[in-house]
Amino acid sequence: MICENLGINPDGNLTFANRDVKVLAEKYKTPLYLMDEERIRHNCRAYVDSMKKYFGEDSFPLFASKAASFKSIYRIVREEGMGVDVVSAGELYTALSADFPSEKIFFHGSNKTDSEIEYALSNKTGYIVADSMEEIEAIDNIAKKLGICQKILLRITPGIDPHTYAAVATGKVDSKFGFAIETNAAYAAVEFALSKNNLELYGIHCHVGSQVFDSDVYFKTSDIMLEFANFVQKNYKVKIRILNLGGGYGVRYEESDPVIDIPENIKAVAEKVKAKCHELGMEVPAVRMEPGRSIVADAGLTLYTVGSVKKIPEYKNYVSVDGGMTDNPRYALYGSKYTVVLANKMKEEQDFACTVAGRCCESGDVLQEDVILPQSVQRGDIVAVMTTGAYNYSMSSNYNRVPRPPIVMLGKDNEYIAVKRETFEDVAKNDI
Ligand SMILES: *Cc1c(COP(=O)(O)O)cnc(C)c1O
Repeated sequence: MICENLGINPDGNLTFANRDVKVLAEKYKTPLYLMDEERIRHNCRAYVDSMKKYFGEDSFPLFASKAASFKSIYRIVREEGMGVDVVSAGELYTALSADFPSEKIFFHGSNKTDSEIEYALSNKTGYIVADSMEEIEAIDNIAKKLGICQKILLRITPGIDPHTYAAVATGKVDSKFGFAIETNAAYAAVEFALSKNNLELYGIHCHVGSQVFDSDVYFKTSDIMLEFANFVQKNYKVKIRILNLGGGYGVRYEESDPVIDIPENIKAVAEKVKAKCHELGMEVPAVRMEPGRSIVADAGLTLYTVGSVKKIPEYKNYVSVDGGMTDNPRYALYGSKYTVVLANKMKEEQDFACTVAGRCCESGDVLQEDVILPQSVQRGDIVAVMTTGAYNYSMSSNYNRVPRPPIVMLGKDNEYIAVKRETFEDVAKNDI
């Protein structure tokens, strides 16, 4: 199995977080998002403990909450000693509603509106990560109006190609994000930020991409960022206190994906960072990393009920389920791979090749192609899609006015509904 929290019980049913998923499907109905709280905590600890150990006491990870944003997740990651990053006032609102300490929140995003900036500053958000000249200007103006000095980081584009999908590669020079070093935009941003009275330039940030398996990407990125930091410190007489290296470590969606040892990777990056600082003769800054996917992806599983099996001889077979692109648009968006199984027939021979399709009126509404299920698949069977904890609920929609599924959090010896199933009234609640 692709993660330790999965198994098969004597009845031939899939287990997740030590529960029979068929029982959960009957109890909570489908479609259903499940989350394994112990796995989330395990993933948090891998980052928190090793960042402290290898970078030092003042370094800690931020959960990139766009991967999964709802109140209980903010409570869990706070208890584990993480900060968070948010990319909209909506995520910020959710974090604050869960009593997340505002001084440990970093506000990212390539285009924050004035009202979002004002909301963030009024709520004492710790750090704003500025992404454009206009934004530096706007943050300074709003800080002035509120009579405060706001800590900021600058989003820098180090010019790294992480060799991942184009849609999630963000560190190349031509990216829509950040200030590129190569074009000198990054230096101009530093000068501009330093000219502002109500801003305190506290550090630099980058995020080169997502679903990255190659640690070399982080070695190169940290080298470039430290050289930049050193240049800035020497030439502009400002201390770069925080080096934020972003997120991006990959997770296993399929058997063929490699396993990443997070503590080993952090150890190697820390050694690289320390060696580089030594070489440059600079103090080692406090480090932040921003894992999103690798905190929640393998802590999630989605269950569906099969509605029909359509065989088109010589062409294709379709197994249709009661969810789809509304709860998981990632295959439709960029062909993301997932492991799909028939959760109530795990011990049967698997030899029926099919496309698992969603219920929406859209041919592209597919969860996965080339799936192999048992021949006996029929209406009423339970389909499980693994590794759906990241970017599924957070990218979900009400297309076709399909209500979103609930999220049931499975604790060690308790379980609770973290997000309720949407009702038809919820779906139409803003219609006048
Ligand atoms: C998306 C994002 C992350 C998280 O990336 P993962 O691949 O989910 O770890 C971190 N930082 C920033 C700025 C992001 O945009």
